Amino acid sequence: MAHMFIPGPVDVDPDVLAAQTKQMIPHRSAEFEQLFRGTEAKLKKVFFTDTRVFQAPASGSGMQETGVRNLAQKDVLSCINGAFSERWYQVAVTNGKQADRLDVPWGEIIPPDMLAEALKRKFYEAVTIVHNETSTGAENPLKALAAVVQEFSPETMILVDAVSSLGGVKIETDDWGLDFILTSSQKCMALPPGMSFAAVSDRALKKAETVENRGWYFDLLRMEKHRIKNSTAMTPTVSLINALDVQLDKMLDEGLENRFARHTAMADRVQTWAYENGMEPLAPEGYRSKTVSTIKNTRGVDIPAFNKFLMDKGMRIANGYGDLKNKTFRIAHMGQTQMHHVDELLDAFETFMAKM
Ligand SMILES: *Cc1c(COP(=O)(O)O)cnc(C)c1O
Repeated sequence: MAHMFIPGPVDVDPDVLAAQTKQMIPHRSAEFEQLFRGTEAKLKKVFFTDTRVFQAPASGSGMQETGVRNLAQKDVLSCINGAFSERWYQVAVTNGKQADRLDVPWGEIIPPDMLAEALKRKFYEAVTIVHNETSTGAENPLKALAAVVQEFSPETMILVDAVSSLGGVKIETDDWGLDFILTSSQKCMALPPGMSFAAVSDRALKKAETVENRGWYFDLLRMEKHRIKNSTAMTPTVSLINALDVQLDKMLDEGLENRFARHTAMADRVQTWAYENGMEPLAPEGYRSKTVSTIKNTRGVDIPAFNKFLMDKGMRIANGYGDLKNKTFRIAHMGQTQMHHVDELLDAFETFMAKM
């Protein structure tokens, strides 16, 4: 069965794809407001929040921009352990923020002690953390990192990118005190690309009131003014929202806990398989992604050739990211990917390696 194992965009189920072919409706209409209210209510369950979830017509990077633009006038601390946390730092800098870096080598996680030390040295209005580094397959200890911010710098806004984990891994937005947490449509949410979603705390909106030059398109206060009327300032992605509605039903029907368990089981399967085949994950034990396994290519597999072999069977994986290209490869197991898809991929992998 054709299937992609790349960390976004992921395969979209046929009924979700089909939902996009519905005819348009005016966005200033009772029908749209009802649809939009419904998707927000379901998103709140996935985000484990009672507060609010914005549904924006922009990919996740747009929401990274929203976070730093609205929640810090000047001082930001960017925790950096891979390509997407590096991007968030760049987004902060190019929006005129004074961003400091807290770097660890790619593949590692941000140790909570290290964050605590940085917060003791200087006051930051916001800290940015990528929960699941898609470039390395490392999952940061988000709950512990959030707890450190609350202990050592309680006024600091906690900004989280959970683009490649939210919907596949349990993240308790309200209980962990996260102020701003975003995801994109095309990864664990298993939708086409083009939207992002962000849960935002009440105190974050209060903070935004004090920040100048929030812009127009990504102004959280403008977004909130429209959200409470179940609408958006600009024309929303009507077709994608129809797909979102169907996909959220699918996720809630599966049961979120079942969904999280499915992702964990697929990660265990791939990572155990790697050891059985003389390879190992890049990230340290205990901090390995549940949604994208990044494996050190110690067997010297020709990844482009392997992908060519896979594509004849309708499958593909992702090469390593940036400098990790060919040194690692990535097998995403997120969204609607099922264990039987993973089994089929690993069988093909063994067939390919036997011929090397
Ligand atoms: C894919 C990804 C992004 C970028 O999201 P877009 O929707 O492509 O803008 C950001 N962060 C992480 C962790 C990602 O995996």
